Amino acid sequence: MTPDISEKVGGLKTLGKRAGYVLADGGGTKSGGSVGVMGLDTFRLDGKNAVVTGSRRGIGAAIAVALAEAGADVVCHGRAGDGREVCEQIRRLGQKAVYVAGDVADAVVCRELMDRTVLELGSIDILVNNAGIIRRAAAAETSMEDWNELIEVNLTAVFRLSQLAAQWMLGQGRPGKMVNIGSVLSFQGGILVPAYAAAKGGIAQLTRALANEWAAKKINVNAIAPGYVATDNTTALRNDAGRNRQILERIPAGRWGEAGDIGGAAVFLSSAASDYVHGHVLVVDGGWLGR
Ligand code: NAP
Repeated sequence: MTPDISEKVGGLKTLGKRAGYVLADGGGTKSGGSVGVMGLDTFRLDGKNAVVTGSRRGIGAAIAVALAEAGADVVCHGRAGDGREVCEQIRRLGQKAVYVAGDVADAVVCRELMDRTVLELGSIDILVNNAGIIRRAAAAETSMEDWNELIEVNLTAVFRLSQLAAQWMLGQGRPGKMVNIGSVLSFQGGILVPAYAAAKGGIAQLTRALANEWAAKKINVNAIAPGYVATDNTTALRNDAGRNRQILERIPAGRWGEAGDIGGAAVFLSSAASDYVHGHVLVVDGGWLGR
């Protein structure tokens, strides 16, 4: 069930007014050494078009809805299905939503996803590389089929889609935002997930490598590293009473993350508020990595 996170992420402009902020138009004063005022409007995504892979459910769905709440139109995507639930949630916010299905391990699907985004929405301003899978097995027992599939979906497809989006942005001379979904296992080795840890470590490095190349072209490439979030991806962990207890004991926030917890970071990294942020991996983990 896709969480209705509109209340949680919502109303950035209203929030700014409520908090007494003066919304700057154009970035604040430049004279007399005054500090520029960055209004909350810089977090708005009005007029922007986003594509979020793996957004039929889970973290991707929450990110797609958060981007729409901030004003973006969104191409949602999943391996299969019709994406009706997430698309309806976005349309209720007054934004356009289109659903494209297909396996990101297939290069033809990646090309179609980018082409459909331009065809349906007119541009690719934001790419969120979220689609991902996990395979739990001891390294000695991990099959090469599982290894290859995971690296293909969680790492190679991210490169392929980023390359396609950048080719479009650079070709049009347009700025853009890319947000890759890593993990706390971008920094840690994890337990019984060798391919997943390798791919997510690769996401952190790929994010930096692409940021180094494209920052000067006004394309921001950053990543989010979620901690332990209650989605289908972590059902096995939550059903294992021992692992569930160990995980909860280690999270300073004292609870599993919810998909909606990732939305704010995604809006920030997709918006003008992060224009000078490049190659960063933003950890959203309830404090897990600080332990
Ligand atoms: P999820 O609930 O299992 O959802 C995964 C989404 O990705 C689904 O929409 C799925 O499509 C799509 N997907 C998977 N393989 C695909 C493929 N080959 N081609 C196209 N789409 C594919 O997972 P989640 O927990 O939201 O995870 C989303 C991302 O966050 C992943 O990159 C994951 O590694 C990362 N992450 C999750 C956690 C966590 O604790 N949950 C923590 C850190 C990082 P269908 O719906 O059509 O199957």
